[in-house]
Amino acid sequence: MSEHSHHGHSHRWVLCPHCDMTIKLPGLTPGTRAICPRCETTISTAWHEPLRRPMAYAFSALVMLALANVFPFISISVMGMTNQISLLQIPQAMVDDRYRFLATIFLLFVQIIPATCLVAILLLTLNKRLSPILSIPLAKGLFYLKNWGMAEIFLAGVLISFVKLMAYGKIGLEMGFWPWCLFCLCQLRAFQCLERHVIWQRISSVPPLPITPTAGISGLAQNLRSCPCCTAIVLADNPVCPRCHQRGYARKPQSLQWTLSLLVTSVILYIPANIMPIMVTDALGSASGSNIMAGVIFLWNEGSWPIAMIIFIASILVPSMKILAIGWLSWNAGGYGARDNHRMQVVYEIVEFVGRWSMVDVFVIAVLSALVRMGSLMNVYPAEGALLFCLVVILTMFSAQAFDPRLLWDRESIKKHEEESIEQ
Ligand SMILES: [Zn+2]
Ligand SMILES: [Zn+2]
Repeated sequence: MSEHSHHGHSHRWVLCPHCDMTIKLPGLTPGTRAICPRCETTISTAWHEPLRRPMAYAFSALVMLALANVFPFISISVMGMTNQISLLQIPQAMVDDRYRFLATIFLLFVQIIPATCLVAILLLTLNKRLSPILSIPLAKGLFYLKNWGMAEIFLAGVLISFVKLMAYGKIGLEMGFWPWCLFCLCQLRAFQCLERHVIWQRISSVPPLPITPTAGISGLAQNLRSCPCCTAIVLADNPVCPRCHQRGYARKPQSLQWTLSLLVTSVILYIPANIMPIMVTDALGSASGSNIMAGVIFLWNEGSWPIAMIIFIASILVPSMKILAIGWLSWNAGGYGARDNHRMQVVYEIVEFVGRWSMVDVFVIAVLSALVRMGSLMNVYPAEGALLFCLVVILTMFSAQAFDPRLLWDRESIKKHEEESIEQ
């Protein structure tokens, strides 16, 4: 592979995406990874076959996704009545119940976004290079969208629905379920071994450094910034990246204002999302709605403690802790608080990682409302609370995305600078 240089001069300069530290990376031997000396974020992983590996996983994932959609997915039998559904019948049921928004979100996050990203990986790693007119928007889209895929969260939702339904009937895993499990695994691996700089290096080589950087200090201190999209280092006041043409700034503009306004909006929606029913259960003609907490209490009393705990953690604890954590990070980045940067970095990484998992309850409702259609016996429908809850999760994800973690570390640079000037 010609792209993968094994020569001694293969060092490259990077700015840590989390703390803005300037690092001179040596040429890594395949199988090793580089960690930021200041914040311990993984900067780069050197994979064996860094192009063929994501290509193989992306291809397998797409095949599995197709198989999962062709065959029936799951079924339930209650008192001699059997209802079998395919994956595409899940959003269909929500459209029929006038929950078009939930159906769209479901299709987008669970199927369309992962599939689009996988096709993009495949096209970008093909032996024949695409023209930059195609590959630049493709790579930009890929790296923007890849955090919004939720296939594995949906799988967790399916498993939770099974446990919820076990008391009522017999659950059947159909032919489409197993390819879906493999699809989740392959797409996770494809994203994991996809290295941003390898993909961009293949599209066009990194632009020459505007100045010779100094390692060990922040990029901002030497008027440099890293392109958020392709990681090229450019002058801090250069608004457009010469390689990927992405607009960018040394720090996200009005980061704290955006973070907090999205956060406040999600808090306002979070209150009714917890009070209003998230789904309606219609059993033998009598309908009853239940909100998140009522669902948890019901499961707990039924004896399904593990599932009650999972739902409680994913739907109540995680969103409220996440809201508090983002608020606390913004408070610290704004210059208040104790400024323990390592602890805050850990909090930021947890917030970034777990945020998406709150969507699991929305997926449980989606599965239940599509699967439990037993005519006069029992039916489950989504309710307004699910819509609000889904919005809360999306808003907190945007809020975390608007937060610029480098602001936390900038405080340290300023503090150090102040101390140094006092010593002099
Ligand atoms: Zn760092
Ligand atoms: Zn760029």
